[in-house]
Amino acid sequence: MKANRREGQKGRGINFNSIINGVMDMAVVKTAYKYRAYPSKDAQSILNRQMALAKELYNLLLEKSKAYYRETGKTLTEYRMNVWLTQMKKEKSEFAELHSQVIQNVSKRVSDAYRHFFRRCKERKQGKKVKVGFPRFKKFVASLTYPQSGFKIERKKISLSKIGNVDFVNHREIEGKVKTLTIKKTKSQEWYITVAVEREDKAFISNGKPQVGIDLGIEKYAALSDNIIHQNIKITKHQRNHATVLQQGISRKKKGSHNKKKAVVRFATYAEHITRIRHDFLHKLSHNLVNSYSFIAYEELKVANMMRNHHLARSIGESSWDNFTQLLQYKAGSAGCVAVSVNPQYTSMTCNECKNVQKMPLNKRTFLCEKCGMSKDRDINASINILERALDSISPNFADKVGKATEGHSGSQACGDDVRPSVREAIAEEAGTIWVAS
Ligand SMILES: [Zn+2]
Repeated sequence: MKANRREGQKGRGINFNSIINGVMDMAVVKTAYKYRAYPSKDAQSILNRQMALAKELYNLLLEKSKAYYRETGKTLTEYRMNVWLTQMKKEKSEFAELHSQVIQNVSKRVSDAYRHFFRRCKERKQGKKVKVGFPRFKKFVASLTYPQSGFKIERKKISLSKIGNVDFVNHREIEGKVKTLTIKKTKSQEWYITVAVEREDKAFISNGKPQVGIDLGIEKYAALSDNIIHQNIKITKHQRNHATVLQQGISRKKKGSHNKKKAVVRFATYAEHITRIRHDFLHKLSHNLVNSYSFIAYEELKVANMMRNHHLARSIGESSWDNFTQLLQYKAGSAGCVAVSVNPQYTSMTCNECKNVQKMPLNKRTFLCEKCGMSKDRDINASINILERALDSISPNFADKVGKATEGHSGSQACGDDVRPSVREAIAEEAGTIWVAS
């Protein structure tokens, strides 16, 4: 499936300031490639066994660090964990089945869990609304990571030390320096290999295409300032019902039974199928946009804020704007495009021609200006304002560097209210009508 092609989109994107200054620093880009893998039956049983061992090790380490904290009031460092692990390997021979690199990664996972915990504690002290949970014992571990070595990537197979050869679908050549390799099993029992790499960023060259502003919504997923509207894909009633039936199937089966396990896999497979349809949509749309425009302005999203309303959270998670804008950022640079986010305050209440600000209740789908009489689709109006705001916020000579020249963008920096109308309204309208695959 296409949606699985490439996942890692973290930390990618153009360094905006450096383009403004006309200097591109060759930053190191971290990225990842994800491949479908087909381990043999034998390899699968080794992998399952090793993941069970990794889980045991994880829980032992957590226990150990808790005890250490009780005694000394300090947390166990990753280094100390590794020293202890070396000792452990001598005492319990079964852990020698795991590659030493994989073992080291387990201690990294434990100390990462602690780090997240402390970070969240700190965030809560600063007044952020975050959930803080102490690192917990794991019921299962579904992946193994080789941090530096212990693996070899060939054309059609990957050889993993202490596991053996694993076939994979090499749909895409790896560019850059390989840093880590992770093999993972999904809930639907599929296997994937993720290769994290680092490479030097290529110099930015603008594709010379037009500029555009995007207003993101739910039914109309993206309304563009040049009057193009990209509709969202719909999860059909049939798909929703089918998911419900599969979910009910799980609860009807006896606890711990083989049939229950089968029902769980059936549901997970279907849920992943739906997720793939969504990913595919987001990948295609973002690809299309970065290749059609040289400059994309979109509204800054504060997903954390929106999540406060627990019911609406589902629709937001589903429509996944956060994911989408990350994809835009990730793909923009190499396509010769710059993607910028702006504060969307008042963008749907402001007339894009005379800048008059007026109330725009949810049910008004057309912006009819009370002052100058301008009439436009409300989302298109908002997207034009988003583009103008982005262009206002950047230096004038930058506008010439990317895409076509811009004309007469007077300031539309309305301020005061901290609502983001277009986003909120869209959610309110569509609340509860979208099914989430999870
Ligand atoms: Zn007007």
